[in-house]
Amino acid sequence: MKYSSDLVVGWCPGALKPFESGDGLIVRVRLHLGRLSLVQLETLVNAAERFGDGNLYLSNRANVQLRGVTGEKHQALLEVLASAGLVDDDPRVEAIRNIQVSPAVELGVHARLAAGLVAKLEAALAGLEALYELPGKFGVAVQAGNEIDTGVTSDVTFLVQDERIATVLEGALDKAIVSGNTNAAAKGFASIAMAFLRLRRANPAIRRMRDAVALLGVEGVAREAGFEAAAHGLRVAEAPAPVGDLGGAYGIGFAFGEIARDALQELTAVMRREGIAEAGVSPHRAFVFPALGPEKAALAELAKRLGAIADPGDIRLRLHRCPGQPACRRGTVESKRHAEAVLGALAGTAFKGKIHISACEKLCAYQHETDITAIAKDGFYTVTAPGTKVAKAVSGADLPAVIAELARSA
Ligand code: SF4
Repeated sequence: MKYSSDLVVGWCPGALKPFESGDGLIVRVRLHLGRLSLVQLETLVNAAERFGDGNLYLSNRANVQLRGVTGEKHQALLEVLASAGLVDDDPRVEAIRNIQVSPAVELGVHARLAAGLVAKLEAALAGLEALYELPGKFGVAVQAGNEIDTGVTSDVTFLVQDERIATVLEGALDKAIVSGNTNAAAKGFASIAMAFLRLRRANPAIRRMRDAVALLGVEGVAREAGFEAAAHGLRVAEAPAPVGDLGGAYGIGFAFGEIARDALQELTAVMRREGIAEAGVSPHRAFVFPALGPEKAALAELAKRLGAIADPGDIRLRLHRCPGQPACRRGTVESKRHAEAVLGALAGTAFKGKIHISACEKLCAYQHETDITAIAKDGFYTVTAPGTKVAKAVSGADLPAVIAELARSA
């Protein structure tokens, strides 16, 4: 099932402009450079305790969310976040600073160049007022290494290598605009984003980059921006989630991105004890810590103790769900509870695909294709699976059995 840009509703919430949900305000903190210092993480943990429900939530766009914040506490929360450099000065900048960075601390020079590019992209988004018109859901992904990871692409995705930065557009990952350095790539981004805005103004059916690419082809969009897109010859494939031992780093994922208050206390305590100064935040809803031998051992032990995810094959990394009722008023089912039951039903199966359980058609939890998709409307799910299999009017109680059966025959 493809994410549909026809179903965009409302805006993408931030910290300055939060979203009212069924359990209070969702305050989404968009990180700078895709990472958190230990002090910033501790600030978020304390803020969640004082102003939210005590937990933190990692999003599939590599943001960190607080939930359950009341309107009266919002201003005080912002002051705490601002003291740690976790909010923008201008809500217009915050609204469009959607840059997800694939943590790549183990990749040395690639990672340093990627960090430099992210800083330049942030500056371009903040400094060019014309870009404030970008839709709130328009996103940028920055990856480093030798292949494009299809699991974490966005409207515009950069792959940073030593002397070569490939810019690919959603909907045509096989072709790229190639730049020789981070300055050129960041300038190129501004041209591409401006071209997208012009195309969108001319045709309101264009909501996201994939719509423009579908209508004009990647060559047409690139030409509008003053570039040429050509076959890049890079491998395009989904990479394993960055959890477990990553060489010079260690990743820990959290089921559905939820990190409970006790786990947060343990996590920050281990970071402080081991001298781990920061964590990258992955769109896979995982923290990636720079770590060598002793730190890795401590983090592995922590992941085990918390029941967190340190195996890239863990089904919890491939099952996506939104909170649903009662946390989200748009939802008509308790997708959180149903997803837990689905996890139980899948135990022991050899299913290697991805599943998305969504409490409404907005599909917030995951923006990429999945093998099995369950979308609720009026209290019942429609479940689609490989081939043309469709199960309609599936109740929450029946969902685990229906999905398990589809998974077995996939
Ligand atoms: S997909 Fe889920 S979280 Fe998103 S609006 Fe619908 S019910 Fe709410």
